[in-house]
Amino acid sequence: MPFTLPPLPYPADALEAAIDKTTMEIHHGRHHKTYVDNLNAALQGHAALESKSIEQILREIGSVPQDIRQKVINNGGGHANHTMFWEIMGPGTGGEPGGALGQAIGSTFGSFDNFKAKLKESALGRFGSGWAWLVLDGGKLAVVSTANQDSPLMNNQTPVLGVDVWEHAYYLRYQNKRADYVDAWWKVVNWNNVAKRFAAGGK
Ligand code: MN
Repeated sequence: MPFTLPPLPYPADALEAAIDKTTMEIHHGRHHKTYVDNLNAALQGHAALESKSIEQILREIGSVPQDIRQKVINNGGGHANHTMFWEIMGPGTGGEPGGALGQAIGSTFGSFDNFKAKLKESALGRFGSGWAWLVLDGGKLAVVSTANQDSPLMNNQTPVLGVDVWEHAYYLRYQNKRADYVDAWWKVVNWNNVAKRFAAGGK
């Protein structure tokens, strides 16, 4: 079993400013765990793949055997996406990014508020389940959306930040009001960790 469910980096009730404890427990302990379990099941007998990082597997998705490729896209994507999601949130966070990331967002989108509006538009425009992302694409920031658990890594993009807009991410507190969830979500974004991803991806 090469892939394991990473522990939440904070208690399940730490993000109550935006996401309730029960949602966090189910989202991490059941949804994310199922992606990990199904990924490991799909990769059984594929030792060469089991030795790679999930990011590398997704970047090289075309080389994954076709009979397991969709399972790896769904469950490997789910594992990578959620691992990032937990890391880019945290208690006592929110606000605005400074430093190189803040400057890059400002120069790319005009302002931080414009960036937030663009990510929200992308999140609300995703019909059904998926994600809205800030990615590095050819060294430049861009806002994109993917369906289901598709990872930007499969499109040669590096995820810097992503918001999960599957109903399982918000339904208990927000029901059908995805916009309210996205608005609240900014309160728990850990910009220090987002900035680290930006710095690493920008090299
Ligand atoms: Mn999710």
